[in-house]
Amino acid sequence: MNALKGQFFDGKSSQLHEVEIGRIDAATIRVCGGAIDRTDAIAELRLAPRLGRTARTLEFPDGARVLVADQAGLDAWFPGEDRLQRLVDRLERHAHAVAASIVICLAAGIATFTWGVPWLSDRIAEQIPRDIEGALGKEVLGQLDQYFGFAASKIDEARQQELNQRFARLTQAMPDASRYSLLYRDAPQVGPNALAIPGGAVVVTDQLLDLFADDREFDAVMAHELGHQQHRHALRQTLRSSFVLVIAALFTGDVSSASAIVVGVPTFLLKSHYSRGFEEEADQFAFETLATHEISPSWFAQAMRELDYYYDADDDGSMAYLSSHPSTEDRISAAEESGYAFVASHPELAREEPDYDPCIEEDICPDEEEVLDWCEDLECALERSSIPIEPVGSEPDPDED
Ligand SMILES: [Zn+2]
Repeated sequence: MNALKGQFFDGKSSQLHEVEIGRIDAATIRVCGGAIDRTDAIAELRLAPRLGRTARTLEFPDGARVLVADQAGLDAWFPGEDRLQRLVDRLERHAHAVAASIVICLAAGIATFTWGVPWLSDRIAEQIPRDIEGALGKEVLGQLDQYFGFAASKIDEARQQELNQRFARLTQAMPDASRYSLLYRDAPQVGPNALAIPGGAVVVTDQLLDLFADDREFDAVMAHELGHQQHRHALRQTLRSSFVLVIAALFTGDVSSASAIVVGVPTFLLKSHYSRGFEEEADQFAFETLATHEISPSWFAQAMRELDYYYDADDDGSMAYLSSHPSTEDRISAAEESGYAFVASHPELAREEPDYDPCIEEDICPDEEEVLDWCEDLECALERSSIPIEPVGSEPDPDED
């Protein structure tokens, strides 16, 4: 049999020796070249698996190795390669098989991140005791006060009491009612916002309370935040978005990586970077909670519209309460649909709808005299009056008929 050419390394130095490998008999080989001359039993050699067309390594028991490019020659010498190895080799040489395996690996990776990480994060969240979640919440509150300009609220005590009662009314029938609390903060840099803090606190900014004209909008936003609390969204989202850090902390017991997780929580809470599924779940929870308390879910749509209007008009870079996913329009129309269903089952409460106009709905319209009596200024009277009043000295618009 012909000798095979190879490159020999003794396993002790990096020096390369060009060698020839020949067979003495069925059980023994001889390696010769330069300073190398050795004989070895074939049974003691190990042939590394094929990898495409790259040279294969023949390993000796003392750590020496020789690289051989002649695949066919090696195949003749080592016919005992197992079938699996040959199959793998065939696949590696097949472009379609390589492409398919890349696609399968990518799909497996995407599936792991899309479903595997959320699933595993939720299982971990279930195991985290409420005390630990509460400690995380305290840490987050501290960070909001320290780094995000959250300060003591300027809302007066009587008004806070009034809102506390509304909040308590919403939570009273919830299984975790005793853990929920409402906290007020003045946060001019953040703007109108409400946050469900891990552990049960809901923080509302003075700016949000100033924005709403009706307390039922406050109820609607609180019901949504309580939805996040009921489903432990803050904790679950934290685990999902810092999954690698969580795993590292679990395996190493390294507390410093756990603190890195805490640092990211206030930002995602302020920017409402919950997953689409979490937002929709909290919205649905809000619609059901409001309906239970005989408040139409249309008030949620109204609150969203006011926030949307505020953030559209406001370009100072304050952190938006409204998340970009799902879109605000989708959330408003979902709330309105829920509102229609509510009114259909509670026709006696139709007058409580945010945009209810008795003049349109029931033809109960104020007469001109009353309008003028109600209105304090002329602009309001003009707006209310059905008779168009031309301002003195104005010419009729020629484009108008
Ligand atoms: Zn939300």
